[in-house]
Amino acid sequence: MTKSTWFDTSIEHALLTHKSPEDEHGYYVYQLDALKSHLATLQQQDVIKLWFAVKANPLSKIIQTLDSEGFNFDVASTGELNQVLAQGINPNRILNTGPAKSKKQLAAFVKQGVNTFVVESINQLNWLNEVMQEQETPTLTNKPTVLLRVQLQWDEGEKNPLGGNSLTPFGLSVAQWQNIHLDSYPALDVCGLHIFQWGNMLSNEKMFSLWSQMITPLTDLASSIGMTLEVLDLGGGLGIDYVGEGHALTWSKIIEDLAIIKAKAGVKELWLELGRFAVAECGYYVVPVVDRKINYGQEQLVLAAGINHLIRPAITDQPFPVQILRKDFSAEQQAMQSFDLHGPLCTSLDKLGHLSLPQDTAIGEKLVFGYCGAYGFTESMPFFLCHELAAEYVYQNGTLTQVRAAQPASSYMA
Ligand SMILES: *Cc1c(COP(=O)(O)O)cnc(C)c1O
Repeated sequence: MTKSTWFDTSIEHALLTHKSPEDEHGYYVYQLDALKSHLATLQQQDVIKLWFAVKANPLSKIIQTLDSEGFNFDVASTGELNQVLAQGINPNRILNTGPAKSKKQLAAFVKQGVNTFVVESINQLNWLNEVMQEQETPTLTNKPTVLLRVQLQWDEGEKNPLGGNSLTPFGLSVAQWQNIHLDSYPALDVCGLHIFQWGNMLSNEKMFSLWSQMITPLTDLASSIGMTLEVLDLGGGLGIDYVGEGHALTWSKIIEDLAIIKAKAGVKELWLELGRFAVAECGYYVVPVVDRKINYGQEQLVLAAGINHLIRPAITDQPFPVQILRKDFSAEQQAMQSFDLHGPLCTSLDKLGHLSLPQDTAIGEKLVFGYCGAYGFTESMPFFLCHELAAEYVYQNGTLTQVRAAQPASSYMA
């Protein structure tokens, strides 16, 4: 196989020799050794505290690997919380974000020991304070650390990479937060702000410019409500070059830039919750070709699975990069052509891209997609048309190990 920027050839042999009838419907593999060394690189700095946005990949082995490299965990649901706790993570290393936190959910999280919350509405702030006050043994010594999530808008007409006036349910405007009185929340330690409004950024300059523009509105908000701004959480959004534009973020530059942001904001702690930038690169999705045809002049490949296992291309219009899985394959020595890659679902949405593969790609051959370590298995729509759930494997110390077996539709149909 030809060397590409995204394919780690150390797993090639394992993928080529992996033969399992259940996996003929498509399976995931995560390269844990590569993940571990990548995470270690991200930790070689003392500027930011790193959290992992669990939604990117909640597999047990992935969480354990992040844990082993000192990451903390950002969870946005009860399911994510339980999955992280099940890996033996101390709840004091868990942060809870999300726009749909009911009082009941907040109480349950507090009960399970979670002590750090990003609140996204005034109701959430009131409820969390009430939850703490209603505890059987109220302890004011262990107040939860609370960050207010802010949603900024730039004037229309101004070029605005933050999404302009497109409104989301994440957080609240400065104008809304300005109405609160911190004295009303004696059971909470409201000491930080959170902001995250953009995705998949691939330019260091643009990121720095965005972050820089946020400091003044945020520090102004903090001082107007009398908050000592100790923590600033800038969320995620660090990008992956899915379509091979040749742009990539330089981590060392991110760290330099964030040191400046941290100093300007005057905060004790700067946090990021990384999703794709932490885990995308370590993951692969392997799927066989089931059919090949020419339709109105377009070469089409139909795969055993599509958006039922891997939905991201259909909802973002960005395909994952692909290669054929063939011993000693070299794209340079091979006549290549573009194919439309379709899955098995009876909807035109089920398309994984228009991508280059060998002209002689044959039925039964396997394709391997890259950058599938984030927003893969759990983001997909596996139930439509009653197909199989994908298996998940990890590759570590030269061995492929199954973490989740493929499941037939009968496992989830009622
Ligand atoms: C999804 C999410 C992230 C991670 O986003 P990436 O773009 O994958 O880095 C971080 N923080 C919050 C609150 C999120 O919802």
